[in-house]
Amino acid sequence: MLIVTNHEGGVGIGETAKALRDGRPALDAAEAGVRLVEVDPAIRSVGYNSWPNILGQVELDAAVMDGTTLRTGAVGGLVGYRNPVSVARAVMERLPHEILVGAGAARFAAEIAAERLDNLTPAAHATWQRVLNESLDERQRAAFPDIPLSELCQRATDPEYQKDTTVFLAIDGQGGMASAVSTSGWAWKYPGRLGDSPIIGAGSYADAAYGACACTHTGEMTIRAGTSRAVVLYLKMGLSLEDALFEAGRDLRRLKGGLIRGVALHAIDAQGNHRVASFGEAKGVDYWIWEHGMAAPERRVAMHLDV
Ligand code: ASP
Repeated sequence: MLIVTNHEGGVGIGETAKALRDGRPALDAAEAGVRLVEVDPAIRSVGYNSWPNILGQVELDAAVMDGTTLRTGAVGGLVGYRNPVSVARAVMERLPHEILVGAGAARFAAEIAAERLDNLTPAAHATWQRVLNESLDERQRAAFPDIPLSELCQRATDPEYQKDTTVFLAIDGQGGMASAVSTSGWAWKYPGRLGDSPIIGAGSYADAAYGACACTHTGEMTIRAGTSRAVVLYLKMGLSLEDALFEAGRDLRRLKGGLIRGVALHAIDAQGNHRVASFGEAKGVDYWIWEHGMAAPERRVAMHLDV
């Protein structure tokens, strides 16, 4: 049994470990962990109290993958629900589809009676309003929101107001493997922007035969490199976890433009090993791990790869 989650996953890893100890499947355990992160108001980049898009609307992305069946479910740009990860799981289990976005995702969430929640808190609204006011001139302020948004969205890479998806990778006592991820994406993003999290193969991927990977930070990069799928394919080709992450890091480095700084890759293999890697100037990235035999989850520092 094994769980790897990123810094934000600290509030959920205890519940995830308990689920695995109780003999529940990896997917149940990973989902249970993500659900706790989604409702924690202290985590500003996932679920409740996270940063909105440039129009002040909290659009959430989430995905799950069952590494045994290789089935996936994802939602993108979901507005108004408490646990996007569970809606993503329902997409996997109740539809012949893999991803729902926007109005269709919200319609489906209502149809399955998912719990509603206005994820925009007064505090997040006030920060958004202040950043917006600082970014607009008088004429734009008067016309907002009927103004071109693309220039404003350059602030979508504002490092002050974004930090991390939550990602969970788990192996259960029967050798089942799963991934589950959830995020509000980048603060002040263009409405409708999807990050890597709802895109299976980019933000996460799990195949119980080889391993699983999940990414945090600039989804624009890991979408372009298909990073999570690439890591699992590198494992399938026989590379060690460390070499697989190094290769995936080199793939990211080859991309022209964009930000590799801050991207962190979390990976496990079918033998129960794990590695978490950061790149560029992002040093001291930490994560949580729990494995069979540990009394409690441990917080560790990711390895740093110079690619
Ligand atoms: N990867 C996420 C996204 O691009 C954001 C993050 O993890 O910081 O939506």
